[in-house]
Amino acid sequence: MITAYVGLGSNLDHPEEQLLRAMDELDCIPESWLGRFSSLYVSAPMGPQNQPDYVNAVAELHTALPALALLDALQDIENAHHRVRGERWGPRTLDLDLLLYSQEVIDLERLKVPHPGIAQRPFVLQPLAEIDGDLQVPGVGRVRDLLDACKAQAARRMQ
Ligand code: ATP
Ligand code: MG
Ligand code: MG
Repeated sequence: MITAYVGLGSNLDHPEEQLLRAMDELDCIPESWLGRFSSLYVSAPMGPQNQPDYVNAVAELHTALPALALLDALQDIENAHHRVRGERWGPRTLDLDLLLYSQEVIDLERLKVPHPGIAQRPFVLQPLAEIDGDLQVPGVGRVRDLLDACKAQAARRMQ
């Protein structure tokens, strides 16, 4: 089994519900089950500013699927949430990004792991650190250290 980490984000159509439903759906991916998951965090949008704030979380997933098959499953879930692709970093009902796939480094057009945004994104690092601050992002560093380096723009933990 591989331990993978998935970043969840939403800022449309009841984001908290989108994320909670997505957690259940992650648990239903074939040959996979949901492990630990973080609290929900709120943060200002990245990129275009004329959109609602985001709710984000991270889930640990134990899986026997190869990385590309896991990406297919994540995209199926996004589609089931009526994800519409518009402008880059535009508003969405659900974004599921594969953050880490064990300690593997993957550099394909369709799939880059570790996810290239991890080190600059407090809304990913905070929930990831809540699960395991000692996690190594291969080629980048330890989650806790990366979070310390970008603390200035924190994401807010929801109750
Ligand atoms: P960002 O990746 O910067 O967070 P985004 O999540 O808004 O932006 P998407 O529109 O969800 O981007 O995805 C664009 C493409 O990124 C997808 O078609 C997918 O094939 C590719 N991709 C590459 N690496 C990953 C990854 N680690 N997780 C999810 N998608 C990835
Ligand atoms: Mg994303
Ligand atoms: Mg994405």
